[in-house]
Amino acid sequence: MRTILLVVLALALAPSLAAAQGTATADTVRALPAPPTAAAASPAPAAADTGAVAVPAATEKALRYHRSGNLLWVVDTLWALLLPLALLFTGLSARIRDVARRVGRKWYFTLVVYGAILTVLFWVVSLPLAYYEGFVRQHAYGLSTQSAGKWLGDSLKGMVIGIAGFALVMWVPYLLLRKSPRRWWLWTALAAVPLLAATFWLQPLVIDPLFNKFGPMHDRALEARILAEADRAGIEGSRVFEVNKSADTKTLNAYVTGFGGSKRIVLWDTIIREMNERELLFVVGHEMGHYVLHHVQWLMLAATLLVLLFLYAVHRSAGWMIARWGRRFRFDRLDDIASYPLLSVIVTVVGLAVTPAFLAFSRHLEHEADRFGLELTRDNHAAANAFVKLQSENLATPYHGTLYKLWHDGHPPIGERIDFSNAYRPWAEGKPLRYGDRFR
Ligand SMILES: [Zn+2]
Repeated sequence: MRTILLVVLALALAPSLAAAQGTATADTVRALPAPPTAAAASPAPAAADTGAVAVPAATEKALRYHRSGNLLWVVDTLWALLLPLALLFTGLSARIRDVARRVGRKWYFTLVVYGAILTVLFWVVSLPLAYYEGFVRQHAYGLSTQSAGKWLGDSLKGMVIGIAGFALVMWVPYLLLRKSPRRWWLWTALAAVPLLAATFWLQPLVIDPLFNKFGPMHDRALEARILAEADRAGIEGSRVFEVNKSADTKTLNAYVTGFGGSKRIVLWDTIIREMNERELLFVVGHEMGHYVLHHVQWLMLAATLLVLLFLYAVHRSAGWMIARWGRRFRFDRLDDIASYPLLSVIVTVVGLAVTPAFLAFSRHLEHEADRFGLELTRDNHAAANAFVKLQSENLATPYHGTLYKLWHDGHPPIGERIDFSNAYRPWAEGKPLRYGDRFR
């Protein structure tokens, strides 16, 4: 399932999110792959192939990718703080608001014009860093298949979506700040519930198709087996889509997306190409676990709590910051749209503080989805091999230190997932299955 943190931050941080488009999150593992391996080309093993699978050591290239990724994370975080701080302390945010007032005239259009100018400004000044991270670096590590034109087009689309998101969402907190200065944070968090649901619902229908082509699976025999598996998992009328991510990347991924009527499982064409049928059936079983165990709803609840926390933090801290530095900011009220970068800074700081708790929750859901997939397929060998391929194709490192895990890992490290895939077989020991009552 897509990392919900992005959706949450989208509500508060539309412009910086637009700049981050292209770092789209992944489910099975964060996407990023490597050179083709011998294993990738091997055909489906015989059914007798059941032995434990060794965790491959991290390659030198994967270690370099991991270490440079850590450095970039620090750079990105500093950038996300320094950029809005610069807008505040130079008074530039207030000057943009003045321009927006002259152009927009009315309250709502002032807000929209401010959001548009800010989003474009963020996009332009973040372009070199985004281009390096999303294009140059991915090609340097042999992970990307994207043309520069596609990268730029996707980035521009992300910016336009950022402006539209700002126009659709940001009037809510700013209107409520005027109407209810004491309780605006609570009312806004309540309003975020239908907004989050609508975002989840629209994502696969409107947003995702802007970037890639989605369609039914090309391999109809495989699709039939997946639908039979969905039937066993207790999912009625399930939908499986294939997306042409090979136009962008060599990395592998699959995910559950959507909400209500738009809910679906999506397989990247890269994973269909690289994995054999047994491995794919495990991967899809993992996604069905998210589906059956209502993980999307759990993540929406977590997102709502995060929004509440972010807004309360803004409510408690923005006042004294404006009292202290308002003359340099050139605004004196939080309900002035020029305060937007201040919201952004506070959300980034609080976001860093709550990331470990959020990721621990995400790792728990992912682990249970792995368990569900294993209980559904009872194919330990294929599951472990699927993770070995993810490790090699996505340039992952198998085990992570505590600090890295706390702030980065939305999934258990892949070595731990291989170990669990080898070891977890209660059906062979006559023990009950945790999710056995859900299977048909
Ligand atoms: Zn998952």
